[in-house]
This record gives sequence, structure tokens and C-alpha cells, in this order.
Amino acid sequence: MIWNPEIETMPCLALEKLQSERLQKLADYVYARVPMYRQRMDAAGLKPSDIGGIHDLHKLPFTKKIDLRDNYPFGLFAVPMDQVTRVHASSGTTGKPTVVGYTQNDIEMWAEVCARCFAMSGAKPGEMFQNAYGYGLFTGGLGMHYGAERFGCTVIPISGGNTARQIMLLQDFQTAVMACTPSYALTLADEILRAGIDPKSLKVRTFILGAEPWTEEMRTELEAKLGTHAVNIYGLSEIIGPGVSNECVEAKAGMHIAEDHFLTEILNPATGEPVADGEVGEIVFTTLTKEAMPLLRYRTGDLCSLNREKCICGRTHARMSRILGRTDDMLIIRGVNVFPSQVEAALVGQTHFAPHYALVVTREGHLDAIEVQIEVQDGFYRELGEGRFADANDDAVRHLCARARKALHEVLGINAEVTLLAPGKAPRSEGGKLKRVFDRRK
Ligand code: AMP
Ligand code: ZN
Repeated sequence: MIWNPEIETMPCLALEKLQSERLQKLADYVYARVPMYRQRMDAAGLKPSDIGGIHDLHKLPFTKKIDLRDNYPFGLFAVPMDQVTRVHASSGTTGKPTVVGYTQNDIEMWAEVCARCFAMSGAKPGEMFQNAYGYGLFTGGLGMHYGAERFGCTVIPISGGNTARQIMLLQDFQTAVMACTPSYALTLADEILRAGIDPKSLKVRTFILGAEPWTEEMRTELEAKLGTHAVNIYGLSEIIGPGVSNECVEAKAGMHIAEDHFLTEILNPATGEPVADGEVGEIVFTTLTKEAMPLLRYRTGDLCSLNREKCICGRTHARMSRILGRTDDMLIIRGVNVFPSQVEAALVGQTHFAPHYALVVTREGHLDAIEVQIEVQDGFYRELGEGRFADANDDAVRHLCARARKALHEVLGINAEVTLLAPGKAPRSEGGKLKRVFDRRK
């Protein structure tokens, strides 16, 4: 089933025409309403009338995450606050989150693109949908919620976590469609099998998985364990949230981008020049229809490739590959974005901590764990008594670790393990790029 056949199977030329019209309007719109864009266009000697269509896209300035930080919290909003229906937030690179806003029309558009995702995933109106994405500032929960309602599913807004209850509702409510992170889906599958539940007794046959990178191997494992389909969904708060793109269940080979709303480029991250279809680069989006916080050429930092070949499902919108990496040091831990700079912002400067640390990410079972190893200053050990080497049972050590865990939880929103390192033991730069992140997953 195709949710919006007129748009989703639109001939490429007609789609390009629609995109060009929308891009022209967008140039006028942001120039008139967003001071940052007006300044940048002025500085580049660019007038809105210079944008005649998508062939002029390259003239427009880029937007980066730092621009959202510099305009925190609402400086990039293009409408007065009384027209902003909702705000969401995602991790920023420091202690402050990245804030995004939606008008009522933006919320409608978001529901529309998410409804398309349900259809692409193979869901059917009338089915029970268990939404195990987190509700709250994170866009995952509410984005999928509104999409499912628009599509016509019955929503179970259970949110993330609590595996025993997830399984109980899968059984009792006869859930047919489930959304969560891929790693959590695998945890759930293992728990179902461990509890001796026959997967055939469950009705769930569609998993819509995203918010973190995953692999074909994970898909094969989950589908085999539960006898279901699993498809990939992609999105980011800055652009709208989930629903930017989704795999069709027919091909399971790349995610169709809602190109009528999100104009897409794949660029060489170093030069900012486009790469050929099929080649890996940074995916960059321009929001064509967003009202509250339209963005020009937003540098996602996500690396993938684009496929414009015809798809067997009949949709004409281009497909993006799985996310293959990042241009920056952002980590995704249990679906939550974590930047090393956030750890720095949370810990460095606190009494007893030296500005040296390392992050170790591991996977226990299917779930990610993060350990923050931070160096203490010389004085800390001296305070414990000359010559004494602190061990983990020491009160002062326990206290310092607890304080660090609390600060990290406040900034990252996840629990981190904290280990103290003796002075001089954290990685130091030896001239080259300092490696302080050790990702031991996979
Ligand atoms: P957020 O704005 O907090 O929702 O985080 C968005 C980021 O999550 C994206 O820029 C990606 O790095 C990552 N992400 C979301 N969906 C996927 C997916 N299906 N595969 C890989 N990474 C994803
Ligand atoms: Zn398709």
C-alpha cells in the first residue's frame, strides 16, 4: 500500500518542478523572517530572486549544528512564538540541547510523512501499534504517535523500556506493529525466547527500527528469531524527527526520502561539493515546507549514499542507504546522541577532575554501555593521604564517582559508568588527533 500515491509515485520531472517552486518560496521566506539567513545571504550577495529553482540550491548557505547552538533556544524560529505549537530537543554538542519548533502545519506535515512510513513498512490501518520510542523532548515517541494515528493504527503509547511490560502488551493487546531502536528489538526478541514464549503465538510482524545505526546482520537475526519484517526508519530532530525516510518492505533496500518536503544532497564533507549517486558522502537536507524552523542545507553529519534507480515498490522518491558513519565524533548510545564535548562540559572544571578523559563504549548483550574514565587531579590523591592509592571502595572515590554520574546523567540523559584514573593516565595528544573515544561495539 502506498499512502500518498500522487506524491510518492510522482514522475521525477514533476517532483523537481514542485521542489523548485517550494525552494523559491523558501528563499523568500527565510530571507524575510530569519535574521541569520538574511545576514548570510546578504554577505554572499545573494537575493531570494537569485534562487530560480533547485539548480540554484548550491548558492544557498549551509546550516550547521553550531548555528542552532548560537541561536539557542528560539533564534532560528521563523514565526512568532504564539504560532509555535510544540518544541522538541535533541542533544547538542555541549550541555545545551538543540531546540526545534513546529507550527500546527508542521505537525500535520510530520504526521503525513510518518503515515507514509507506516505504509512503506507494511503496516495496515486498523492494526495495533506499540510505540516503544521514548516520549518527551525526543522526537521519536510523539512523531511516530501522530503518524500512526494519521495512518489509522491503534496506538499503544508505552514509550521505551520495561521489557516485561512490553512483552505482556505484545501478547495481550495482539500488537501487529512495533517501533523501537534496533538494539532494543533484539533485546526484546531474546527476552521473548528466554521466557519460553513461542514467537508464532504473537501477532507482531512489522518492526520499524531507527534512531541509531544498525546492520543487515541485525535485521536477519531479528527476522529469524521472531518471524517478522524489520525495516529501517531515519530522521533527525533538526529536519522534523522520524519520518524523513523509511525503507519499503517490498525491496528492503534503502530508505525512500520524502523528497517533496526534504530536498536532499549528498556532499563530500571536506569540500562541500556533491558526490555521484551511489558514492558515500554527508547527507544534507533543505526543509521545503517547514514553517516554524525551516533550515537551508543542513549538514547532518550522517554519511550514506543515494540511489535514484526505480524501485520495485513503485515509489519514485530517491532512496538513501543505511547510515554508514558520522563526519564528527557523535556517538549514539541506546538511541541517544552523545558528543564527547558534552562529557567535557559536564565534568571538566569540577573540583578534583583534570581536563583529561576517555570514553569507552561497549555492548552488553544487545544494549550499549558507556564508561567515562576521567583523570583526577594530583590534589585528590594527596587529600586521601600521602602515598595512598585510592581504590573503588574508598568513600572519597565513591563520592566523586557518584557526583560525576549525576552530572553526566543531567547532561546526557543516560547512565554512564564512571572510573577514576590516576593523574597522567588518560590519553594525551601526541601531536596528532587525540583519540579519546574507544567504541568497542561490534
Ligand atoms: P535525533 O535528532 O536525536 O533524533 O538524532 C538524529 C540522529 O540519529 C541522526 O542524525 C542519525 O545520526 C541518527 N539516526 C536516526 N535514525 C537512524 C537510522 N535509522 N540509522 C542510523 N542512524 C540513525
Ligand atoms: Zn521502494
